[in-house]
Amino acid sequence: MNERVYNFSAGPSVLPEEVLVEAAKDMLNYKGSGMSVMEMSHRSKVFDSIIKEAESLFKELMDIPDNYKVLFLQGGASTQFSMVPLNLFNNTKTADYVETGSWASKAIKEAKRYGAVNVLASSKDKTYSYIPKLDPSTFTKDADYFHITVNNTIYGTRFAPESIPDTGNVPLVGDMSSNILSEVYDIKKFGLVYAGAQKNMGPSGLTTVIIRDDLIGNEMDITPTMLNYKIHADADSLYNTPPCYAIYICMLIFKWLKEKGGVAAMEKINKEKAALLYDYLDESNLFKATVAAEDRSLMNVPFVTGNDDLDAAFVKEATEKGFVNLKGHRSVGGMRASIYNAMPFEGVEKLVKLMKDFEVKNK
Ligand SMILES: *Cc1c(COP(=O)(O)O)cnc(C)c1O
Repeated sequence: MNERVYNFSAGPSVLPEEVLVEAAKDMLNYKGSGMSVMEMSHRSKVFDSIIKEAESLFKELMDIPDNYKVLFLQGGASTQFSMVPLNLFNNTKTADYVETGSWASKAIKEAKRYGAVNVLASSKDKTYSYIPKLDPSTFTKDADYFHITVNNTIYGTRFAPESIPDTGNVPLVGDMSSNILSEVYDIKKFGLVYAGAQKNMGPSGLTTVIIRDDLIGNEMDITPTMLNYKIHADADSLYNTPPCYAIYICMLIFKWLKEKGGVAAMEKINKEKAALLYDYLDESNLFKATVAAEDRSLMNVPFVTGNDDLDAAFVKEATEKGFVNLKGHRSVGGMRASIYNAMPFEGVEKLVKLMKDFEVKNK
């Protein structure tokens, strides 16, 4: 078998090695069922215990109160860009959005199909390299909801847990695709949180939605059945065939997270990993972070040398040495290291060492 690389991909991204080994072990015969999880009915007893365990571990890890439902859906986070307005535009058909990147822009574009969207603030003027300051007096008092992208995967910014806006009675909706389970957020501040699994949670094909009970069942008349939260909530995410194998892998990852001490323990390691990288970027004479210090993501760290040829040379050398997927998103350029939960501390340590050596050679 080839050696595994340090994979800094933004998504789909690195998964815990222990989980992959366990899944491989159970590939042909899952717990005496005589078949793979991929081959079993989603209505079987065996699968029922997998999805129930996934749900209960997820609730425990994120400290989700009883008046919220967890849904396991498909269609990626991108489908939530439509599903949120279709289900939540039920009164004034107005929503506030903060434009902090291209995922936020895509969410705004979809919501505009169904109602009035106020873009309260934007950081587009500086390539989304900061989180705009919000003035609560500008919030729409009777909006049906308020939407933020909690972590901006492409640009490397985030709303930290302490800077989640207080939207009062207006339900706050958060896209947490790239930082769910990375640090402790108080779910009670949100009416709805959604996340595609393939960044920090598991394989692609699964989207989790955490939704407060009172936001279920007031969908617009035009809402397609498959985009109706109530349909999925009433059927415990088994209205139709769910992404069974992705749910199974997530269940294993939730178990792994719990064994590691849960989200608070992950947060501590993630902060150490991020600090290691940002501290070096702040002192380096070659590499620079692109994001305002107070808004930096713990998960996605973009950086540049300011010279396209040097950037390309660094990415090439890193790839040859087994540090892969470091090329930045085309809209930012340079490099981006995604250092999700499954990236070990040692991977970041070795990356920083590689950067230091590169800096010495390219003085
Ligand atoms: C990746 C990403 C998306 C899109 O996810 P898909 O599952 O590919 O639809 C949306 N929002 C954020 C913040 C992302 O990182």
